Amino acid sequence: MVNQRMLGLGTARSVIRELFEYGKQRSAVVGAENVFDFSLGNPSVPAPDAINETAIRILKEQPELIHCYTSAQGDAAARQRFADSLNRRFQGSYTADQFYITVGAAASLCCVFNGLTCPGDEFIVFAPYFPEYKVFIEGAGAKMVLIPPEIEHFQIDFDALERSITPHTKGVVVNTPNNPSGVVYSRQTLEKLSAVLTAKSQEYGHPIYLISDEPYREIVFQGFEVPWVPHIYKDTIVCYSFSKSLSLPGERLGYVLVPGDITDAQEVYAAVAGAGRSLGYVNAPSLFQQVTSLCCDMTADLAVYERNCKLLVTALREMGYHVAEPGGAFYLFPRSLEPDDVAFSQRAKDFDLLLVPGSGFGAPGHVRIAYCVQTERIERALPKFKALADSYK
Ligand code: PLP
Repeated sequence: MVNQRMLGLGTARSVIRELFEYGKQRSAVVGAENVFDFSLGNPSVPAPDAINETAIRILKEQPELIHCYTSAQGDAAARQRFADSLNRRFQGSYTADQFYITVGAAASLCCVFNGLTCPGDEFIVFAPYFPEYKVFIEGAGAKMVLIPPEIEHFQIDFDALERSITPHTKGVVVNTPNNPSGVVYSRQTLEKLSAVLTAKSQEYGHPIYLISDEPYREIVFQGFEVPWVPHIYKDTIVCYSFSKSLSLPGERLGYVLVPGDITDAQEVYAAVAGAGRSLGYVNAPSLFQQVTSLCCDMTADLAVYERNCKLLVTALREMGYHVAEPGGAFYLFPRSLEPDDVAFSQRAKDFDLLLVPGSGFGAPGHVRIAYCVQTERIERALPKFKALADSYK
């Protein structure tokens, strides 16, 4: 007998993976250039040259920095560089001892949920949402409370939020720029959220933490602002990753920032570190702790995402698709042309368009397009989107 929850997670079918596998099979039949696979959020631009150069330099010149254990929470010099970078960019006063370096945002989130959860606790998540949140939150023994989407702009339905906050609410998760909608929460949305959480924390006599999941922080388009969330709500814990900004998803590097001025900061940091210990998320890869911390002020060449986005949004809207205004990341989340998003995704396959149904993201009636692909592929996909739309006329 094995753990039934883990068995379920290990054997559950993933719609995204299935689409991806289908794409490979279909490519063998019609040629890879004729399959328009928009299923996966794998960055399409290479990491900056400086990443490889820095890695090679460290390998050659500082062998004592690699292949060995660092502190469980990460190398002190690397943590100091992350702090310095945020202080420069956001006028903070963060210190190395507020950072817990982990293997990507996924581990950061797990450390935070596990570190915070007491029996009966709940975390609020806004749809559409990154489906792994449910796995991570339930894995920590907490309950995920889902707020239905505000489908016009994918900002926050505050009436639904107010109804859902209870004395059991330990935290609220935001992800902006968002996977899967590409929407950026406006400063006004975040300020309103801050006011609600401040009032509810006072009413219930305990802090409600805001967990800001920010792997797309740097992928933001002209005319949009991604505010620094800890400046808007004091009790914010930041989960960051270099997977997308530096195009390094396979290197597994990110961090938790527990700012020193949040309620019970030292206790929260220690609990995050304890969760890291309990989950085995200690000592993130030491070479990439150095590389990312030495390169954390740069990004991959992210311009292609904005180009792809403009091209797709303009064309899709002309064809009659409804698309909420995206401000960053590399996803679009248009409405499906029939209420059943799974049937729509199925029909899209007839045109060799691989689009992920929105139901899995908590927003039925939509599909996700991961447009982190070559622009030329998007240009060639547009007639397919047109033919798909025409098939509904
Ligand atoms: N959070 C969101 C919203 C994501 O989209 C992803 C990955 O796609 C993650 C977290 C996990 O990222 P990482 O590769 O850093 O674990």
